[in-house]
Amino acid sequence: MEFGFTEEQDLLRESVIKLMERHAPPELIRQHDRERSFPEDLYKAWVDAGLLRLAFPEQYGGLGGSAIDLSIVVYELSRVSADLTMAFAGSIFCGLNVWRMGNEEQKAYWLPKVMDGEVKLAIGISEPAAGSDVGALKTKAEREGDHYLVNGQKLWTTAAGLKNSVISTYVRTDRNVHYRKGMSLLLIDNDMPGVTVRKLDMLGRRCAGTNEVFLQDVRVHESRLIGGENRGWDCLMAGLQSERATSAASSCGAAQAIVDLAVSYARERQQFGQPIGSFQSIGHMLADMQMALDAACLMMWRAAWLVSQNKDALREITMAKLFAAETYVNVANQGVQIMGGYGLNAEYDMQRYYRDARSATIAAGTSEMQRNLIAGLMGLKAK
Ligand SMILES: Cc1cc2nc3c(=O)[nH]c(=O)nc-3n(C[C@H](O)[C@H](O)[C@H](O)COP(=O)(O)OP(=O)(O)OC[C@H]3O[C@@H](n4cnc5c(N)ncnc54)[C@H](O)[C@@H]3O)c2cc1C
Repeated sequence: MEFGFTEEQDLLRESVIKLMERHAPPELIRQHDRERSFPEDLYKAWVDAGLLRLAFPEQYGGLGGSAIDLSIVVYELSRVSADLTMAFAGSIFCGLNVWRMGNEEQKAYWLPKVMDGEVKLAIGISEPAAGSDVGALKTKAEREGDHYLVNGQKLWTTAAGLKNSVISTYVRTDRNVHYRKGMSLLLIDNDMPGVTVRKLDMLGRRCAGTNEVFLQDVRVHESRLIGGENRGWDCLMAGLQSERATSAASSCGAAQAIVDLAVSYARERQQFGQPIGSFQSIGHMLADMQMALDAACLMMWRAAWLVSQNKDALREITMAKLFAAETYVNVANQGVQIMGGYGLNAEYDMQRYYRDARSATIAAGTSEMQRNLIAGLMGLKAK
């Protein structure tokens, strides 16, 4: 059994760490969080460094990186900011969907645009009445010659409001069949006539942004239909796996930043004449935080390895997403506790980590839905 990374993977990690130190210093992250804005220059630095190319096959101009390579990048980006990483991850997993499900013409058109940073991709599944119950989505697309006329509303769409964002929009194209057979995927620019994007006021992840998207008589050419009409469910399923694997890596990286900050604070902060880390209750809490996080990372790397070997990994990805998300939320909560009042103060990063963490057990599928899926894979499917 091999637990190490290759030399190339160590170099990849080093280069991402250096890139983030150079282009995303702590003060810049704090400023964008305060201003709820997104650092486009950082996205450009990711593009220039080839990070947007990494996960795509060489045949299409990518670097042919594995799921492990991608997880290394997402882990390191998230160690700096899980919020900003969402813009990177959205482009990657929606782009991979185009690669998996699109025709050659679509791949030739969209993949270079994603890799060159000409467009960003966002994922539009959720709606006001369709959260965990994806099949309840109502946004409809009706054919009119070589176009679709799209009407409806998407909710919680991460990064949909960023510059040149194209929304991977799941729509209903046939209402008379089971939802799995009547759903399609359309790529819709966020500035097309009839599209309105409104950034929502959320607890955390304020830079990539969480949005609602209104679609009113939006005319979308059929060339933007990915995977064929009524094949949206297959696209969704193909994409969700990479979304969840990426999400586990993000939770692990962000959680490590929290533990590191809590440890350094516990070493420095003196009460009763000694560092608070020397009190057993604080030391044990930190030991438990790191132990849970190591377990989450092991599950995450196992899932990434299975994906990189093209093995069926639904159970392992789901468990990694679930456990990493819950660990992330738990260590964020404990991190605040360890820092006392300072943990809640805007001058310290812990409160931002805590705010950004909280959505991890909700976004990309709630913890309850992950447990449902795992139980189902154990033969315990709910009726
Ligand atoms: C920060 C953030 C970013 C997001 N980004 C995106 C995005 O980019 N694109 C996108 O499409 N969506 C996005 N989402 C939406 C996310 O996928 C949904 O919020 C999530 O699927 C849950 O849906 P809901 O919020 O409607 O909750 P609901 O589905 O209404 O669930 C409410 C509660 O009921 C529980 N529940 C529901 N059904 C069951 C069941 N069958 N068994 C047990 N418990 C159940 C849930 O687990 C939850 O605890 C994002 C959400 C957040 C918070």
